[in-house]
Amino acid sequence: MSTAPLADQVQLLAVQALDVRAGQLAHRRRTLPEHAALAELATRERAVRDRLTVARTAVSDLERELAASDEAVRQVRERAERNRARLEAGAGARDATALERDLTALARRQGELEEVELDVMERLEQAQGQAAAAEAELAGDAARRAELETARDAAVAEIDAQARSLAQGRQRQVQGLDAGLVALYERLRASTGLGAAALAGGACGACRTVLSVTELARVRAEPPDAVVRCEECERILVRVPEGAGAPGAPGGGA
Ligand SMILES: [Zn+2]
Repeated sequence: MSTAPLADQVQLLAVQALDVRAGQLAHRRRTLPEHAALAELATRERAVRDRLTVARTAVSDLERELAASDEAVRQVRERAERNRARLEAGAGARDATALERDLTALARRQGELEEVELDVMERLEQAQGQAAAAEAELAGDAARRAELETARDAAVAEIDAQARSLAQGRQRQVQGLDAGLVALYERLRASTGLGAAALAGGACGACRTVLSVTELARVRAEPPDAVVRCEECERILVRVPEGAGAPGAPGGGA
């Protein structure tokens, strides 16, 4: 069994309290609500961007369709004007009949084209409205994202400042402690997340296992500088002297 001054063992519990606090800070840093909100916002933004792409594609398709329709109407009008000019210039009777018939057909054709054009214009307006709505949503999302990022950065900076001050405090606490004790503590902490615990109320403060009467008697009989380990969880079991007030220890033994 290794040994380390009891005072070092008791102080190790203070180091552990700082390590637990540091672990809590790291957990808080990882699970900030802003992280989840930003991820959710990013998913939403992707969906809105997809909608914007669809709407913009529809707008450009419909604009092309409208231009083609305008051109068709223009050609029909021109042909009708030519026919009328020829009629006014005095076409022969046979030609005049053909021209009149053509003009009637052209008027019908123009009416049909204008109906199509109206439909295209309506759909274009709709697509433009959808694109504008998506753009407005994206602008709102960008503002919300900036807010969330600012809040996240502030929270992270605050946590990091606390973590730095904790680390400095820990360095002071750990300084001068028995090197073998600290090495054992670090090894246990790395493998179990917790290196040491106080023996409190006859139980291990880490795994809460109550020591048997025989085991408790054996542990108590060990010299003060013996480094006792919990039989159940193997952690360093610190026998805090009465009145020492170990962190996290609810009270002295039986
Ligand atoms: Zn234990």
